[in-house]
Amino acid sequence: MKRVGVIGGGQLAWMMAGAAKCLDTELVVQTPNKSDPAVADAADVILAPIDNAAATAQLADRCDVITFENEFINLEALKPMATEGVCFRPGLESLAPLLDKYDQRCYLQRLGLPVPKFIPLNGKLDLQNWSFPVVVKARRHGYDGQGTFILKDRQALGLTLQQLGQTPALLEEFIPFERELAAIAARSVAGEVVVYPVVETQQEDRVCRRVLVPAQITIAVRERIEAIARTLLESLEVVGVFGIELFLTSSGKLLVNEIAPRTHNSGHFTLDACVTSQFEQHLRTICQLPVGNPALNCTGAVMINLLGYEVATGDYFVKRQKLAAIPGSRVYWYGKTQSRPGRKLGHVTVLLDTPNRDEALAIAQKVESIWYNS
Ligand code: ADP
Repeated sequence: MKRVGVIGGGQLAWMMAGAAKCLDTELVVQTPNKSDPAVADAADVILAPIDNAAATAQLADRCDVITFENEFINLEALKPMATEGVCFRPGLESLAPLLDKYDQRCYLQRLGLPVPKFIPLNGKLDLQNWSFPVVVKARRHGYDGQGTFILKDRQALGLTLQQLGQTPALLEEFIPFERELAAIAARSVAGEVVVYPVVETQQEDRVCRRVLVPAQITIAVRERIEAIARTLLESLEVVGVFGIELFLTSSGKLLVNEIAPRTHNSGHFTLDACVTSQFEQHLRTICQLPVGNPALNCTGAVMINLLGYEVATGDYFVKRQKLAAIPGSRVYWYGKTQSRPGRKLGHVTVLLDTPNRDEALAIAQKVESIWYNS
């Protein structure tokens, strides 16, 4: 029995705990609150903030390997532990270039991967070669679109920069994408790389609302994404699962938007629609078990996030029952005690007997009309 320590106890760790049960592994989570989603399903818990290195040292004492649920980690504080032999997977060197959005863009560019034009925001800003809209991003601690600002003119840009104050940020070109795509990829200790089916993600207000599986793209685009995933995971010598988000323009140009060095929301469909889920795959790779098959086990699927739309404490039982009654659906409820607008409370995956995009969108609309009373 392997013991895996997870820094973070949110829904990603909770879904990993579900996968651990089938793999003769158990999870110990480091998370600040007793009510965090993964606490109930973990074998053991260290109640501490995720950047508390003393707590991570305790976690290391109890576990064979330590992994991450999110990228908001204190790398410097973990380095001495790695030097003393604590096994972090993915390794800290794999994470280092990715934790800051500006560093990440620089790293991708050095690898020759396509990224939007970008510059760091420090000191005087010369906008001569830029046209509006532009995008400003906080370099760290952004998630679900928090810290990302799409700005239509100079005035809006000035206001945002003022609000950001001393927060390190970057400026990048706005990509008028036709679609957003994503792929989950995994790499084993032995260097085997697998890439999951590419999906289309749809964001509203910069938050993922739904994921259409598989993305309706040409073989050439799919192969380019697979090649990007391979280049990236190999050059970083990743062990574990990463999420890769991309823009596809109407002229067929592909650009990498962001790398998530962990399991990712765009891969939740894999729990039901793939032979091996991203969570099982992550545990397999970090525990040196054989790599699982990432293929679809169905023709198509659609995943819809259940986002909070009010400040409340209810568990939305009746709505969840209605969602579960949709043929082919599976509802995941993260058990969060507080709902607030935009918060990810759960998700629904509906398996389809067609890869048809319109049908997937129609099902998504049905789920959303039940969930949002619209
Ligand atoms: P986060 O890390 O918070 O998820 P992202 O940088 O991925 O933030 O941005 C969230 C969303 O904002 C993206 O999915 C996309 O819809 C939009 N977005 C981000 N960067 C750009 C860009 N350069 N051009 C156009 N849209 C963008």
